[in-house]
Amino acid sequence: MVEFTEEQKRVRDTVRKIAEEKVAPRAAEIDETDEFPLDYVDVYAKNGLLKATLPKSSGGLDADTMTLCLIVEELARAYASAPQMLITTGAVLQVLSKAATTAQLQRFLKRLEKGTHICSFALTEANYGSDAGNLQTRAVPDGDNYVVNGSKAFITSGEVAELNLVFVRTGGRGTKGISVIVVDKNSHGFHVGNKEHKMGFAGTGTVELIFDDVEVSKDNLIGKENEGWRLLTNIANMMRVWGAGSTAMGNAQGALDDVVEYVREEVQSGKPEVDFQAIQFMLADMAISVETARSLIYRTAYVMDRNGASFKDVETLVCMSKCYAADVGMKVTSDAVQIVGGYGYTKGSSIERRMRDAKSVQIYDGSNQIQRIVAARNLLS
Ligand SMILES: Cc1cc2nc3c(=O)[nH]c(=O)nc-3n(C[C@H](O)[C@H](O)[C@H](O)COP(=O)(O)OP(=O)(O)OC[C@H]3O[C@@H](n4cnc5c(N)ncnc54)[C@H](O)[C@@H]3O)c2cc1C
Repeated sequence: MVEFTEEQKRVRDTVRKIAEEKVAPRAAEIDETDEFPLDYVDVYAKNGLLKATLPKSSGGLDADTMTLCLIVEELARAYASAPQMLITTGAVLQVLSKAATTAQLQRFLKRLEKGTHICSFALTEANYGSDAGNLQTRAVPDGDNYVVNGSKAFITSGEVAELNLVFVRTGGRGTKGISVIVVDKNSHGFHVGNKEHKMGFAGTGTVELIFDDVEVSKDNLIGKENEGWRLLTNIANMMRVWGAGSTAMGNAQGALDDVVEYVREEVQSGKPEVDFQAIQFMLADMAISVETARSLIYRTAYVMDRNGASFKDVETLVCMSKCYAADVGMKVTSDAVQIVGGYGYTKGSSIERRMRDAKSVQIYDGSNQIQRIVAARNLLS
C-alpha cells in the first residue's frame, strides 16, 4: 500500500481543488476552440506548479515522482489536456536542473519570467518519431554559436513556449551524435510552423517548429556535445510515468466518474440502468483496470524515488506503466461511450472527448509498441 506524505497530500488536495474549480469548467470550450488556455498558465504559476520539478533553492516545489504523478492525475481527471503544459515545462526544467550549469539555469529561469513561463520538449521530426535516434535537425558550430537548420513536428506547448529544449545532430549518425540545446522563441530564423489539427488533446499548442539558420549561443548547449541521448533516456523514464501514464489513468478515472454519475440517473424502459447487471459488470471491470493502472504507476514512482530513474529495473516498470495505463485509458473511455449509448457518441459530451484524448497517450512519449519492445528486450536480456 502507498502511504502519502503530508506534503504529497497537501499538493494533491490543492491540485484537486484547482482541477474542479478552474480546469473542468473550461474543458468543453477548449476542446471546441483548440485555443491554448493561458488562464490555466496563470493558475498553475500562482500555485508553483510550473516549477514543481525544480529544487526549492531554485523556487520550485522539489516534487518527487510520486507528487508529480498526483498532480498530473488530478488535472487529467478533470481534463486530459490540462496537465500537458506542466509536463513539457516540468520535463525541460528537470533536464536543466540536472544537467545545466547553475549560471545557465539562472539565466533560463530569468528569461521564463518575462513571458508565458512555458517550455517545449522538441524531439520528434516529420520522419523521425519512434526512430528519433536518427533525427536530422542539425546544429553546426560557427564561432561562439551553433547554426541550427531543420524542423520538429508535433511539439506540445510549442505554440506559446518561451524556451524550446531541442534535440539536434552535432555529430555522426545515430544516437551518439545528438546534443541538447535551448532555443529561445525570439531567436532570428526560428518560426512556429503549422498547428497540428488533432482529434483530441485540444489546447495543447501542438505545432511544427522551424529552424532556418538560427544562431544559438554555445552557452545554450546543455551538458556535453553528443551526450543528448543519455539525457533523453533518463528524463524519458521519469516523464513516461508522471506524464503519459498519469494522464491516461487520470483521464480514465474521470470517464469512470462521469459514467457512474450518468448510470445512477438513467432509466431504460422504465427500469433504472443501474439495475442492469451487464452494465454493473462493465463498471466493475473499468474500476478494476483503473485501480490496477494506478497501483502500477504508484509502484513505479515509489521505486524510482528510492533508486533513481536510471536504476536498472526501473525502465521495465516504466514501459509497463505507460503502456498499460494508456491501453486502460482507451478501453475505459470507449466502454464509457458504450454505456452512455448514442449520446455518448455525440460531440460535446465529456465522454466522447475523453475517448479522443485517450488515444493520443497510446501514441506519444514512446508509442505502446515501442514500450512493449523495450519491456520484452529487458525481460529477455
Ligand atoms: C498528441 C501528441 C503530442 C506530442 N507531443 C510531442 C512533444 O511534445 N515533443 C515531441 O518531441 N514529440 C511529440 N509527439 C510526437 C510523438 O512522440 C510521436 O508521435 C511518437 O513518438 C510516434 O512517432 P510517429 O508519430 O512518427 O510514429 P511512427 O514512429 O511513424 O510509428 C507509426 C506506428 O508504427 C509503430 N512502430 C514504429 N516503429 C516500430 C518498431 N520498431 N516496431 C514496431 N512498431 C513500430 C508505432 O508504434 C506506431 O504505431 C506528440 C505526438 C502526439 C500525438
